[in-house]
Amino acid sequence: MTLHEPARFFANLLVPTSDPVGLRGRLAEHLGRHARCETTETGEVLLSSELGLSRLTLEAGGLRIAAESGDPTGLAYIKMIMADHVLELGEAGLALHWTGAGASGSPLPFFRAMTVTGVATVGRFRRLTLRGDDLGRFAEGGLHVRLLLPAEGVRQRWPVTGDDGRPFWPDGNPPPARVYTLRRLDVAAGEVEIDMLLHASHHDAPGAAFAERARPGDVVGMTGPGGGDLPEATDYLLFADETGLPAVVRMLAEMPAGRRVRAFVEIEDEDDRQALPSVAAAEVTWLYRRDGARLETAAASIGAGDLPPGTVVWGGMEHAARRAVFRRAVDVWELPRDRLRLASYWRRGQAGTDHHHDD
Ligand SMILES: Cc1cc2nc3c(=O)[nH]c(=O)nc-3n(C[C@H](O)[C@H](O)[C@H](O)COP(=O)(O)OP(=O)(O)OC[C@H]3O[C@@H](n4cnc5c(N)ncnc54)[C@H](O)[C@@H]3O)c2cc1C
Repeated sequence: MTLHEPARFFANLLVPTSDPVGLRGRLAEHLGRHARCETTETGEVLLSSELGLSRLTLEAGGLRIAAESGDPTGLAYIKMIMADHVLELGEAGLALHWTGAGASGSPLPFFRAMTVTGVATVGRFRRLTLRGDDLGRFAEGGLHVRLLLPAEGVRQRWPVTGDDGRPFWPDGNPPPARVYTLRRLDVAAGEVEIDMLLHASHHDAPGAAFAERARPGDVVGMTGPGGGDLPEATDYLLFADETGLPAVVRMLAEMPAGRRVRAFVEIEDEDDRQALPSVAAAEVTWLYRRDGARLETAAASIGAGDLPPGTVVWGGMEHAARRAVFRRAVDVWELPRDRLRLASYWRRGQAGTDHHHDD
């Protein structure tokens, strides 16, 4: 390596499958939906993304997966994603053992134990300040994190890297996890700020219940970062309810001058309004649910010719509202998918955030 070549991190896995060709094809098909996928003249399958590169090669004894990345977090994500897919798409009972960087038993690069240092009530949100070590990597590659929420009174033992590249929990099952947004991040101070909504069902909900009882000194697990990066554009149209508001705060705070943003934010009433500082030209419309205003209606009021060419549409909101905005964006505004970033952040009547879009 010369002085100017960036460091690379490597790991290797031989999947002892009896059907390496079939497994390679299924992995290429599934992972190719989220990564660039090409097959070389020698039949090697290459999968590349912002996380790094994986090579899938047939070998005596199975399918060889060679992974590499420019940073330990990227490599750890690749190892975990590969293991999840191999275990889902391969035959039952496969034992996976990665070799190379990030050995079994080592700390997970994408995990931090975070200590609550501040709790404030802001409208219907609980604003938590969390402190942790070495947060630099959380400033790039995504706005969101998964909080791992110990049950009340439980002293949680945290995961390390497992043999198969996935988190290994020394006490067995992991605690419930919920997705949140870093509305503010101060790497030098080792501090992040998260607004957690105390929604109507918060007593039976691990995320909101933790937010309600959190006190300085409590410890919570955090993995990430991921998701929320916007494609380059001059004009943005944003839709958010309370759960998407922290992402709007962060996007506007980080958006450079010269961008134009039109944002619709649906909240219960004026108590939940927040300052949205930005050097971009931002026009924000607050929609009060109490008065019957809705994101769906706001989207329906925008006609086919109303959007500047090249507009990127982003949204974080309830499942049904997201679907209505998505249909409007595709059917009426006729936007191509690469200019749409509309996500369902929660679903009425359903716990957790693993509900899929059904476009
Ligand atoms: C990328 C992403 C970023 C997110 N960022 C944030 C954030 O910064 N702040 C934030 O507060 N949320 C955020 N969310 C939403 C949050 O993850 C969900 O609301 C999650 O369901 C909360 O977990 P819980 O344990 O409180 O409730 P769950 O156990 O998941 O759900 C229990 C019950 O509460 C209902 N419920 C869940 N959320 C709401 C809600 N908002 N309003 C009314 N009822 C609800 C469910 O439908 C269910 O019936 C984000 C979600 C995603 C995908």
